[in-house]
Amino acid sequence: MTVDDSLPPALTERFRWLVSPADAQSQPGSFVLYWMHSAMRAHENPALDVAICLARQNGLPLLVYHALAEDYPYSSDRFHAFILQGQRDVQRELSDRGIEAHFHLARDGERGPHLRDLTRQAAVLVTEDMPVQPLAGWMERLVSRTSTPIAMVDASCVVPMQMSPKSHQRAFEFRKATHGLYAERIDQEYCEQQVDCSFYQGPLPFKSLNLQDICLATLISKCRIDHSIAPVADTPGGTRAGYARWNKFRMNGLNHYEDERNDASNRDGVSRMSAYLHFGMVSPFRIVRQASAAGAEKYLDELLIWRELSFNFCFHNLDVIDSLEALPDWANETLDEHATDARESHYSWETLSRAKTDQPLWDACQRSLVKHGELHNNVRMTWGKAFLGWAPSPASAMRLTMDLNHRYALDGRDPCSYGGVSVSYTHLTLPTTPYV
Ligand SMILES: Cc1cc2nc3c(=O)[nH]c(=O)nc-3n(C[C@H](O)[C@H](O)[C@H](O)COP(=O)(O)OP(=O)(O)OC[C@H]3O[C@@H](n4cnc5c(N)ncnc54)[C@H](O)[C@@H]3O)c2cc1C
Repeated sequence: MTVDDSLPPALTERFRWLVSPADAQSQPGSFVLYWMHSAMRAHENPALDVAICLARQNGLPLLVYHALAEDYPYSSDRFHAFILQGQRDVQRELSDRGIEAHFHLARDGERGPHLRDLTRQAAVLVTEDMPVQPLAGWMERLVSRTSTPIAMVDASCVVPMQMSPKSHQRAFEFRKATHGLYAERIDQEYCEQQVDCSFYQGPLPFKSLNLQDICLATLISKCRIDHSIAPVADTPGGTRAGYARWNKFRMNGLNHYEDERNDASNRDGVSRMSAYLHFGMVSPFRIVRQASAAGAEKYLDELLIWRELSFNFCFHNLDVIDSLEALPDWANETLDEHATDARESHYSWETLSRAKTDQPLWDACQRSLVKHGELHNNVRMTWGKAFLGWAPSPASAMRLTMDLNHRYALDGRDPCSYGGVSVSYTHLTLPTTPYV
């Protein structure tokens, strides 16, 4: 496997070897495998473009593999429906570009370690760099069970994560350190690779599933997941739904974003794009270019600085992102000092998840998460801070916050989830009569 100088610089800067060809001990494989998981789109997708380049350079066919497992944390009808709607759009978009792809859905009678088996046969695995669980753990497992070179590509951030060599705690530090890097990239047009490689035609360890004319609800009923959490009716997944929402906001809301974004009662004051960004159903590069063309500075600050600071945080602190260890020392000292303070109330997970506390605002926030799978940023902060007053210890409070966030929010388990929860634990102004 070779990577020659013809990989364009815009791809090289977001490419790294998890297992380099020099370290891999595999037999030469027979195709380039691209595993798509966090960039569910066939446009402006640097991981797909790297895979096309490697196939071309090495004269190998490309195998595009996307799949949906049952064992990701909090797997439920809600996430399965959103993801399958997204996969359906991706299938159509890949096909329109002339890219052959294969989709596998784990379900009754259709289970197996297909990614591992395909990786063992491949000359190289290309996939997206996503610094959260379960993906990081799945990659580790793959490294220990295969000996194929593995290339990781950042398909999420305008300034690739690996270009910020240190972890930044604060937005102003990150803004200052990355200003020049953003200035060079924000308005850059995305240059798609020409699809000039062949496609793998050999046998597959599973039957490829075409999602176009199939009932997704019936498919979902065959999956071993939590069927008690319903899909969100007014937020369908997929590239088309994602850009429809973005374009509506771009035309009607973007110009007023700076003034309206703090009004939690105005649903249209913010873009509500985080779930589409989380699954990579829309291109963050395109959204940034269009926001920049509209001169939407405040929106860009959220999308670039706050969002990518979260990626930077997870990239450099992966082992601790879901624990108190991720917080700065001064925050942990304060939490320790107050660890034995009397709590306002003790609520069980059931009481909290069913929004049955005696705090009307908090219950309304929780109901929004359960019903709509989303929560406006301002009240999300209030929602996130409340757990400390109700759980026996800061550690258990954080576990509860993460659990309810990841279980119900369509954008849960994103790097921004860990950034958001950390911020809510380090900006602690807990009023004594908070929710009246
Ligand atoms: C306790 C808590 C939990 C959170 N959990 C998540 C989560 O699971 N997933 C998630 O994506 N975000 C999370 N956030 C951050 C933030 O609330 C959401 O990103 C934002 O509300 C999404 O709504 P929007 O798309 O309308 O944002 P907009 O205001 O329209 O902003 C546009 C985009 O900028 C980014 N952004 C905006 N605010 C933030 C922020 N504070 N931090 C990082 N990026 C931001 C998002 O990508 C967002 O889609 C959390 C915040 C808190 C306080």
